[in-house]
Amino acid sequence: MPREPQRVGATCVGQAIRRDLTEKRAPLAIPITPVRVGDVVKLKKEHPCGANEWKIIRVGMDIGLECVGCGRKVRLVRYEFDRRFRAFLRRAIDEQGHSAATADEQDEAPPV
Ligand SMILES: [Zn+2]
Repeated sequence: MPREPQRVGATCVGQAIRRDLTEKRAPLAIPITPVRVGDVVKLKKEHPCGANEWKIIRVGMDIGLECVGCGRKVRLVRYEFDRRFRAFLRRAIDEQGHSAATADEQDEAPPV
């Protein structure tokens, strides 16, 4: 009788992070959200003003956000932001409509 192969091995190998040191600090490794200044994102909780659109105004160790509804500015540490992030509503750079700009990987270099 053939049994379905158990998947052994590849499942939990890389997960053996030492828990002694990182105790309850960061329960899970949350992927970093690739945001850029100018993006508009949706977070897990909406702002008390009713809007749930946040414009990225600063990226660094902290993420600076501005509520699109009322203009309030808040700051979240990277980790908090990644936890609360839900979706992109608008990207700063839209993939379409850019004509020959010879853009290779120029990040935020303004044309001087
Ligand atoms: Zn607001």
